[in-house]
Amino acid sequence: MNINFSTATFKDFENIPGMNMMERADIYYDFLEYMKENGHRYRLQNNTGCSSVMEVGAEEVTKEFISFVTSDYLGFTQHPKVKQAAIEGIEKYGTGTAATPLIGGYYSYHKDLESKISSFFGRTQEEAVIFTTGYTTNSATLQILLQKEDIAILDMAVHASVYEGCILTNRKTFPHNNLDALEQILKKSENEFRTKLVVIDGVYSQDGDIAPIEEIYKLVKKYNAYLMVDDVHGVGILGKTGRGTIENTGLLDKIDIITGTFSKTFGNLGGYVIANKTLVNFIRFQSRQQIFSATTPPSISTGIIKAIDLIDEEPQWRSKLWENINYFKKGLDDLGLDTGTTCSAVIPVKIGDPHITGDVGKMLLDRGIYTNPIIYPAVARKDARVRMSMTATHERDHLDKTLNAFEDINKKLHIAKK
Ligand code: PMP
Repeated sequence: MNINFSTATFKDFENIPGMNMMERADIYYDFLEYMKENGHRYRLQNNTGCSSVMEVGAEEVTKEFISFVTSDYLGFTQHPKVKQAAIEGIEKYGTGTAATPLIGGYYSYHKDLESKISSFFGRTQEEAVIFTTGYTTNSATLQILLQKEDIAILDMAVHASVYEGCILTNRKTFPHNNLDALEQILKKSENEFRTKLVVIDGVYSQDGDIAPIEEIYKLVKKYNAYLMVDDVHGVGILGKTGRGTIENTGLLDKIDIITGTFSKTFGNLGGYVIANKTLVNFIRFQSRQQIFSATTPPSISTGIIKAIDLIDEEPQWRSKLWENINYFKKGLDDLGLDTGTTCSAVIPVKIGDPHITGDVGKMLLDRGIYTNPIIYPAVARKDARVRMSMTATHERDHLDKTLNAFEDINKKLHIAKK
């Protein structure tokens, strides 16, 4: 089987007919070498802590870049109070849990973290359960809640972790944010499946646009289904008090399942499920990841607890983030670049062609600007874009330099749509 490296994507290596695992690994290795020889970067290495300015480089000389690649939206990975809380966590409790939650690895700081995140959403500790990553939160929750008589109905743009969670169940996708298509699936599924669970993101990770949550909620209830919202890119950023995409809809206490991560706004690692107490109890004691895998260590738990407090104690970070988002997006719009439908800290510059997108990424790197060119399979083949995440720690100078770079690149590559 021949794979054309010049057009191959990472997906082409998932299954190659007739090749065993070693052969697949070998050919994939050759593919990465080919990519490297042709000047494509894959997984750069950051040599400093997470920040809006990072030293980046492995084999090449390390250089300083303005970074738009992390989701450290409020800059909490470096917040002195978060760091201090993490240090205190280690000093008080040590470094690890050394057991799975069900058999001795559930500590008071886990309970404290569950209390903190649940009360952040106006709930009680019994209505929250934590996981080691946001990815596991989605995949484990869906895996245990849905079985083969059930159906997951997904907005097609939901995160990979949601797709992974649906391996044991029936799955149907509807075109992104398309309410008519969703209604049709709900209508057809109403009597055919036992549990119908619609899964959407609050903020979509590649476009930065938001879901029409109120409309979707109404449809879900009309057809006797349930709703799960993954709001990892909304919490801490959107909503009157930073409770995320759902807050301004007034449905925070009505959505059946809310999932989130501690790896973005909260500057750390882990994830959480917010749901009613029986559902949470079921996930807590039935999910294989809770039974057979250790959970969040002390320093992470105590660091996150402080970060959650800071959302209310230091709202200036959210204000600064929004100042940056509005300034930068206006700058890109003024250049005629296509930022799509973003309403969040995720800002795409939509280009379309994957090769030109790669070139833009490289030209930005040459100018000391680190972004993520996103191509298929993360987005549709003709919808490639350079994706940037804004943070509260970007300075005006970083944004101006980046806008100037885009202006120059546009003169050469004509990427403006307007
Ligand atoms: N959901 C969405 C929408 C995401 O973008 C991500 C991370 N990229 C996750 C879940 C998984 O979160 P984590 O990286 O914390 O595992």
